[in-house]
Parts: sequence; C-alpha cells; structure tokens
Amino acid sequence: SAPVLTLDGPGGAGKGTISRLVAERLGWHLLDSGALYRLTALAAGKHGVALDDEAGLARVAATLDVVFVAENEATTVLLEGDDATTTIRTEQVGDAASRVAALPAVRQALLQRQRDFRKAPGLVADGRDMGTVVFTDAPLKIFLTASAEERARRRHLQLREAGVDASLSSLLKEIQARDARDMQRSVAPLKPADDAITLDTTRLTIPEVVDRLTELLTE
Ligand code: C5P
Repeated sequence: SAPVLTLDGPGGAGKGTISRLVAERLGWHLLDSGALYRLTALAAGKHGVALDDEAGLARVAATLDVVFVAENEATTVLLEGDDATTTIRTEQVGDAASRVAALPAVRQALLQRQRDFRKAPGLVADGRDMGTVVFTDAPLKIFLTASAEERARRRHLQLREAGVDASLSSLLKEIQARDARDMQRSVAPLKPADDAITLDTTRLTIPEVVDRLTELLTE
C-alpha cells in the first residue's frame, strides 16, 4: 500500500503547517486527523449531543458529513455543506475536541475514515496517534515537539493573523491543560511510537523542519 509519513505531537508544535508543506512538496495526500475530532465536537453541538454522551458522539463521528476541499495553499472544510474552516480552529472547539477524543467509541468510529486517506502516491498524516494506532506500519514516523512556551507563542501569532487577540498566558494554560488531557487519557495517549524519530522544533524555523523531514524521507 501507499507510503505514509506520520507526524504526531502536541498541539502548536507546527504539525499543521509542516504537514501541509511536506505534502505539497511531495505531491502526497494530507490527513488532518485533529480536524475530524474538532468536526465531531462541532457537529455534536449542532445536533444537541452532550460532550459526555459517548454512544451519541460515536454516532456523530461515524456519520460525520465532511468534505475537505483542497485549494492552492489552504483547505476549506465543509460540515454538512456549511463552511466550518475557521469555526473548527477556535480554542473552544479545540477544547471540546480533546474531550471527545478521550472517548474510545469516538476514536473507533473515526479509525477507518482516517485509514481511507491512504492512497497513492502517499500520505502525510498529522495527529496524536498516527504512528501508534492508525498507521502502525508507516515507514517513517516523526514526533514533533516544542516547549509549551514556544507553542503558546506560535498559537498567539497564528490567532493574531486570524484577527483574534488572545492573551499569551491564557493560551499557555490551555496548551498545558490540553497536553495533560492528551497524554493522560487511557486510549491512544499522546506519546512517540517506539520507532518514531523525535524532532524538537523549538529553535527551528518551518523551512528547516520541512527540509529535515524531506531528507529523512529520502534517506
Ligand atoms: O491537532 P488538533 O489541535 O487539531 O487536535 C484537536 C484535538 O483532537 C487534540 O487536542 C486531541 O485531543 C485530539 N486528537 C486526537 N488524535 C488525533 C488528532 C487529534 O486525539 N490523531
């Protein structure tokens, strides 16, 4: 089957941007698995399903009506036909996503949908458990990290570009809370796969990381 590059790591480590750039450079498909958890949380809100109703949330995940429209540079996300591209990026939806992502039935419901993204010529898979659960046979697994402070700073800049003015200290707290939840959950906790290469991006620029990954892929 088609090769997969898995990119796992905590939020704000640059996975989103880097996955997109690496996929573009290689001409590979891209899976933003976090978007699926965000969309599940958003769809649940839309349909009045509570964030602790595991069976209800699993149904929402299994029947998620989502279309990813890849355009030059950006991807538009349609949820039930409505543009959800910016809505799913809010801290509120991110927080709800990390709650629904802790539920085993939700993760199970999204498993096959994620694997279906694996097509020729290859896939760059961005998430938390791409290397440990979803694509365990991937030939190259990367664990991208950066200090929590650096990740808060990056999120701050990213939000500011989107016109959102969030305080750095509240972002740092949210990032730390989400890290804790992602690492401590019992299903698919955030951790590097045994055969993953860990790359700390705290002091690296985006082009440096993209170059390093491209090098690793051709080694
Ligand atoms: O990466 P992103 O911030 O979009 O992910 C949102 C949330 O979805 C994460 O905090 C995490 O709890 C969850 N997630 C996950 N497994 C993935 C991707 C995301 O549990 N593969």
